[in-house]
Amino acid sequence: MGVRHVVSFSGGKDSTATLLTALSRFGRENVVPVFCDTGNEHAEIHDYLRYIEESLGIQILRLKANFDAEIAAKRMFVARDQRVGRKYDTEPVFDAQGNPVPKRDGRGNILYRAVKRDGLTVQEPIQKTRKVGGGRRVRWTNRAKRRALEVLHPTGNPYLDLCLWKGRFPSRLAQFCTQELKRNVMVEYQLGLVDSGYTVVSWQGIRRDESPNRRNAKQFEKIAPHYYIYRPLVEWSALDVFDYCGKRKIQPNPLYLQGFSRVGCMPCINCSKKEIWNTHSRAPEYLEQKKEWEILVSKASKRGYATFFNKDLHQKGAASSIVYEANKIDSIIIWSRTTRGGKQFDILSDIEDPMACSSSYGLCE
Ligand code: SF4
Repeated sequence: MGVRHVVSFSGGKDSTATLLTALSRFGRENVVPVFCDTGNEHAEIHDYLRYIEESLGIQILRLKANFDAEIAAKRMFVARDQRVGRKYDTEPVFDAQGNPVPKRDGRGNILYRAVKRDGLTVQEPIQKTRKVGGGRRVRWTNRAKRRALEVLHPTGNPYLDLCLWKGRFPSRLAQFCTQELKRNVMVEYQLGLVDSGYTVVSWQGIRRDESPNRRNAKQFEKIAPHYYIYRPLVEWSALDVFDYCGKRKIQPNPLYLQGFSRVGCMPCINCSKKEIWNTHSRAPEYLEQKKEWEILVSKASKRGYATFFNKDLHQKGAASSIVYEANKIDSIIIWSRTTRGGKQFDILSDIEDPMACSSSYGLCE
């Protein structure tokens, strides 16, 4: 049935350059720009989508994840939960010399597991572990059930619904937001095209100099029959990208001129201290919204506490309520104004005019 060039469009500079490249090579009729709406974007992203559509004479397909079924299943699970017992954190055990202590069965025999080393499968002793702390109750208490069932209803906002379903916000170590709100939605759409008989080339605006994780990004990959990934910008720099768009008379997203170094969620869970302060200065309504989300998602969590950011502003092993107080939005805003390990206030942050251009890419001369 032909080839569909599907461009993941986020409203950022890299995806804009990728879209322009795809259109110049294959034309509007063969290119499908797709935007995954997380429900957590700055309103200017949607304005920018309309600007791109009008400037290039194209239509961007908007896709949204839906978690209605997952939330309904969780409601049922929480209401029915009658489990007993506790769940414990564990830590590995070492002997007095600092060597790992192997785990043994009831007869004293060391237990092994198969692991791959340099392409060979070898048997390795399993390290003994011990319980740490008093553990957590496995079942939902009736009080927690009442609290969760009050808020476990779809809101229509994919980001919030995802967090209500999971009972927590994503984190750097559990970044399920990207997976559930963007990757899965995009892959489902593309596989649908493949199943309809198209060959799909998925265009991704990834650059190797963006981060250590991306330094080995391949330019071209075959994922499955009739399904490929193409990354035309792998060898470009950020300035190459702005230059390319500028030569084609396409303006960068205005958020870059407001000091945001990346365009996407507002805010992103991985925001730096400076970006959090910038958001508070220029778009405080987005942090106010996250305060409301923290209340809702806390209610949907078994422990009763959930914070949008987790900047480890608490003692290791602290109780949930202390972790919540240290990392909730109000505390994070105060922390974002500090320098020197979060102890000293940065008075210059109050002097800086929040409406002035502070692009991290030097877009304004
Ligand atoms: S990693 Fe950040 S930008 Fe990506 S989906 Fe999560 S919050 Fe949004």
